[in-house]
Amino acid sequence: MNYIHNHLPTDKLQALDAAHHIHPFSDMGDLNARGTRVITRADGAYIWDSDGNKLLDGMAGLWCVNVGYGRKELVDVATNQMMQLPYYNSFFQSTNVPAIELSAKLAELAPGDLNHVFYAGSGSEANDTNIRMARHYWASLGKPSKKVIISRHNAYHGSTVAAASLGGMAFMHAQGGLPIPDISHIAQPYWYAEGGDLSPEEFGLKCAQELEAEIERLGEDKVAAFIGEPIQGAGGVIIPPETYWPEIQRICDKYEILLIADEVICGFGRTGNWFGSQTFNIRPDIMTIAKGLSSGYLPIGGSMVSDHVAEVLAQKGGEFAHGYTYSGHPVAAAVALENLRILDEEKIVERASNEIAPYLKDKWLDLANHPLVGEARICGMVAGLELTPDKTARAPFKTPLGTAGNICRDFAIENGLVMRAVRDGLIISPPLVLTKPQVDELAEKVGRVLDQAHAKMRQEGML
Ligand code: PMP
Repeated sequence: MNYIHNHLPTDKLQALDAAHHIHPFSDMGDLNARGTRVITRADGAYIWDSDGNKLLDGMAGLWCVNVGYGRKELVDVATNQMMQLPYYNSFFQSTNVPAIELSAKLAELAPGDLNHVFYAGSGSEANDTNIRMARHYWASLGKPSKKVIISRHNAYHGSTVAAASLGGMAFMHAQGGLPIPDISHIAQPYWYAEGGDLSPEEFGLKCAQELEAEIERLGEDKVAAFIGEPIQGAGGVIIPPETYWPEIQRICDKYEILLIADEVICGFGRTGNWFGSQTFNIRPDIMTIAKGLSSGYLPIGGSMVSDHVAEVLAQKGGEFAHGYTYSGHPVAAAVALENLRILDEEKIVERASNEIAPYLKDKWLDLANHPLVGEARICGMVAGLELTPDKTARAPFKTPLGTAGNICRDFAIENGLVMRAVRDGLIISPPLVLTKPQVDELAEKVGRVLDQAHAKMRQEGML
């Protein structure tokens, strides 16, 4: 008998959870009072809880289960690799076969000359690597003063001390004395909330030009890199206006600062191409990967590094004094490689891009006609809705921020759908293997949620 008791009653599991398990991004007093939802199994695009409720997983776990749940090939690869070599490190002149083969496959798939990988256990760790690597790169070139990494307000790059500093979430900085030194934040290209009377194109350009102003303010000799998510995910699925990324690229090129694309969410098919950098025509020097790399079946992340950065490090950098016990973990690497094989050979990225995403887009953009919706936006298989009491003015609610979003999120769960609320907006990022009937189900449920929320908000005087 092993120690996992899948058949304990829900109340017992919840009591044990409340007694011993501290959850991420949770108010534990509130959570323990309400009780956690115990997820016991999953298949395809669905998850089940311990009371037998079936939910369509509109978030692919945490934006990661790109191939969907229940892929036995991934289980078999993990089992075999665990028998063969469950662990060995990549320090001290050692390597392992899955890490070698995964690196070669990633080099083949990644855009441009991103032909090298430094592995981590997560996206946060990979972004920590990026900070140290970018600074080490410039120090190796004899420019140790180039340390500042420029990021954006409301960016999410992870939860470690450095990655959370890189992120632009004020409520995260407020806890634990962040950010660390030499990180700076400029405006985000969030037209709906911050664009005012400018057109999206004008606003995109204006936000990107803040990068140039910030480089000038800090001094070019102080700036190491700019980092951005091609589409901000946790910030609320903020899809930048078309003018944004070309201008960012121009400025990075002009000042020769490194461009780091954080593709933790956008990578591996999410935006309709293998990488968000392809969708937005960005040429990153470093690219953060995680999540969809293994479809979440095992933890793995990494930094993909371009030829010229890798060359400088190899020729001038000496020892890069950085690494994780689980860098290049053989089982995680084997599962990631098998996941890439599935995505590639089953043409999941192409099918999602050519068939499912356009089908979803039609239905999603239709939701903009609902009286509660101020904007519907979508790119590939990631989408967001802005909720508003007044469509024409893009007005916010008068209730505390998040009230309207949470009302919808709770109705979604009641309707058997997982979607996430960000402020007073709703976001989805479903598995890429969604079928058309599942898209119908998703859209129909979101419509019902909006109707129910509308009725409740009316009753409560929010509208
Ligand atoms: N970067 C981005 C863009 C992310 O969305 C996330 C996670 N949501 C991270 C980094 C951090 O990844 P992890 O949670 O694996 O540390």
